[in-house]
Amino acid sequence: MKKYIIALDAGTTSVRAFLYDIASNKFVHRVQQEVGSDYPFPGWVEQDASEIWFKAAYVVSGCMSAAGADEVAGIGLTNQRETVVLWNRETGEPVAPAIVWQCRRTSEFCASIPAPVAETIRAKTGLLPDAYFSASKIKWLLDHVPAARRLLREGKLCAGTVDSFLIWKLTGGKRFVTDVTNASRTMLFNLRTLDWDEELLGFFGVPRAILPEALPSDARMGEAILGSSRIPVAGAMGDQQAALFGQACLSEGDAKITYGTGLFMLFPTGSAPVTTQSGLLTTVAGSVEGKTTYALEGSVFHAGSGVQWLRDEMGLIESAGETERLALSVESAGGVSFVPAFTGLGAPYWDSEARALIAGVTRGTRKEHLVRAVLESIAHGAKDLADCMQKDSGISLRSVKCDGGASANGFLMQFQADVLGIPVDRPEERESTALGAAQLCAVSLGLASAKELAAKRKTEKIFSPSPDRAAAEESYRLYRLAVARARLHI
Ligand code: ADP
Repeated sequence: MKKYIIALDAGTTSVRAFLYDIASNKFVHRVQQEVGSDYPFPGWVEQDASEIWFKAAYVVSGCMSAAGADEVAGIGLTNQRETVVLWNRETGEPVAPAIVWQCRRTSEFCASIPAPVAETIRAKTGLLPDAYFSASKIKWLLDHVPAARRLLREGKLCAGTVDSFLIWKLTGGKRFVTDVTNASRTMLFNLRTLDWDEELLGFFGVPRAILPEALPSDARMGEAILGSSRIPVAGAMGDQQAALFGQACLSEGDAKITYGTGLFMLFPTGSAPVTTQSGLLTTVAGSVEGKTTYALEGSVFHAGSGVQWLRDEMGLIESAGETERLALSVESAGGVSFVPAFTGLGAPYWDSEARALIAGVTRGTRKEHLVRAVLESIAHGAKDLADCMQKDSGISLRSVKCDGGASANGFLMQFQADVLGIPVDRPEERESTALGAAQLCAVSLGLASAKELAAKRKTEKIFSPSPDRAAAEESYRLYRLAVARARLHI
């Protein structure tokens, strides 16, 4: 039996390949390439899709050489979501720069979407009509790039997310497919029928013929042609969903929180999509082993970035790691609350005018109090999301599995457990996204079941709620008052 799987993680800032040892469920080698972004106008973000492909091919080849081509059973793919690539069906050449998920160029158009259409979008796709998602980006390219319109007329245009472009490239143009998790982020995909939605295709002017076929996440996507080797591309998932899978959050209420620059929470809700009025998103968690499951998703724009701000702009700390010691050196934040609304507030407030706030400062306030308040605000942001998710779904949060850079902070994880009142479980392997892609590939190839792989997950540490959570609750109360003040737009 072959020993390895390659997990290809095509992220926003880098493309990475991980060599996954099937027997030990561990990564044994990794290769990384940074990916550049262009900002041609304020609010615009573009990438060169060819660069993404070349670098993906490079990192995959690096892992192949490390493994020996004969030892690789398959490639599992995970990727930045929502980003759009248009390419020529005959040559495989991109027609225009990829429009990255962060790009705001279509925000005016999205704001002008009539209320009844916005409601249809919410009901059918689980998403908010926002520039973030793929639909308005594809529309923009069709409206503004003459070469795209010409190829469209000639029946030679392909439009897809990064996964579909990479699968096309890996398979030498043989396969034009995506997976349902990626499709569910386009705003053109019906959550219930698991198919492109005619009404939405019509509204955005996107012909079905230019879109890939949406397959289950664990489908055999095609066969990658890498030099003289042929290797199955087996399994693909958007990055957040892959992280959820890699964290073994397979049941309702088993959530994962990624503490990175921002905070991303996914909350599985089982086999039916839950509609929400709290500004959360409803998304496909995965379609694996013949079962489609859904999740609620919420994000807080700024989490670890508050720590970066303390370091880079305020000069109060030298490294992010230092914040743990400083926070623990005081008994509380001394009545100080922080609201990290640097660019407004995301779920559940959706207030783009709000700005960051430090509240409750007294003559005795010290740097340690502010550092602690910044860390506490990260946990409070997750609590805001968790409360909405539980209320909207009627499902109780059972556990939180954590990952991302700031999950290294023991104070933050303990405080999170105290604020939520449930244990926070930190795994040994924090590259959950890549692990999810590798394990999905193993499932796709029939090497293991999702359940067997979930049982292999190793906890590094469990942070249990403290017996007395009164202080954490009081801190959350003060944070909510501070949020209200941060929203008093001046
Ligand atoms: P991303 O994938 O969004 O780039 P990462 O998962 O690499 O983010 O996490 C980086 C973020 O985590 C940074 O914002 C950094 O300030 C924060 N961070 C890293 N280590 C710590 C720590 N020990 N305590 C608090 N924050 C941390």
